[in-house]
Amino acid sequence: MAYQITGEVKYLETIVRAYDILKEYQWMASGGYAFNEHMATPEGSNYTDVEQIGQSFEVPCGSWAVFKIVRHLISLTGEARYGEWAERILYNAIGSALPMKDDSQRRGKTFYYADYRLGGGRKVYFECSFPCCSGTYPQAVAEYHNMIYYLGDDGVYITQFIPSVLRTKYKNQDICLEIKGDYPEKDTFQVVVQNAGKYTINLRAPSWVIPDEVEIKINGIVYKTSVVPNQWISLVREWKKGDMLDVQFPMHLYSIGITKKHPERAALFYGPILLAAEGRHFTIDERHYDLKDMEKSKKGLTFYSQTKEGKLLSFRPYWSYKEREWYTVYFDFIKE
Ligand SMILES: [Zn+2]
Repeated sequence: MAYQITGEVKYLETIVRAYDILKEYQWMASGGYAFNEHMATPEGSNYTDVEQIGQSFEVPCGSWAVFKIVRHLISLTGEARYGEWAERILYNAIGSALPMKDDSQRRGKTFYYADYRLGGGRKVYFECSFPCCSGTYPQAVAEYHNMIYYLGDDGVYITQFIPSVLRTKYKNQDICLEIKGDYPEKDTFQVVVQNAGKYTINLRAPSWVIPDEVEIKINGIVYKTSVVPNQWISLVREWKKGDMLDVQFPMHLYSIGITKKHPERAALFYGPILLAAEGRHFTIDERHYDLKDMEKSKKGLTFYSQTKEGKLLSFRPYWSYKEREWYTVYFDFIKE
């Protein structure tokens, strides 16, 4: 805001630097930060906090803050990479929160802290009615539409692939685009051009894609273009009404460590989706941690592995866990 009003570059540099520091030291797998509402130390306090602290991330207030900073960073810098944080938060933080509700116990029940503890956690409502997060939950949800499209000098920039319709003006042309599909439950989505025009459609290449595997078709014909994770894929064209983009971002299993120094204490992802195992666990035996092998066990969005002790691990999206259902987000990958 200070940069937008004064134009002084130091304000923009401050927010860019803040983003880099948050990403380097604070991020948890979900895109959350600040165990018990305290910033992590650069030495990596998240490593020990995840053993003990169930108040892992204040989801609605923290998500709302991320949406605001990401929207400004993309608008002011034009860089695609910032969309990664909004993507993680969309599906794995605010998009995985329990909905607000009234029931026979009390009104204004609100999800507050996510629990990512090693050894298991549950989703529960905050103990008081109408906490701070009862204000930011609806604000964050109402912000979803602002996360999808941006306008730039050469056309439209799409950063999230949420089913939606864009109607806007670009250089005196009316633009109408529609995103269709079930992404990220499926790894494909479509963009339909609803009226003719000459402009570029830029798609954010997610951080986790393997460039050679990305497939883009225009009206069924493969469109060859360069793909770099966290940058824009630019599709320059004179668009006709009814033109259809088919986009596939193939997903794989991968892990994200609790800190850079500790990749062995990690959470599992499938594309942009944070996975959690059913029940309470501490370890995955590394003999069962061949992710390529584990990918073959996929049924829907569920994957199977084992603990060091031989217990079955069923991993499914963290968003699918209901109130008071035990799950485990972080594991120690144990070497024999
Ligand atoms: Zn709050």
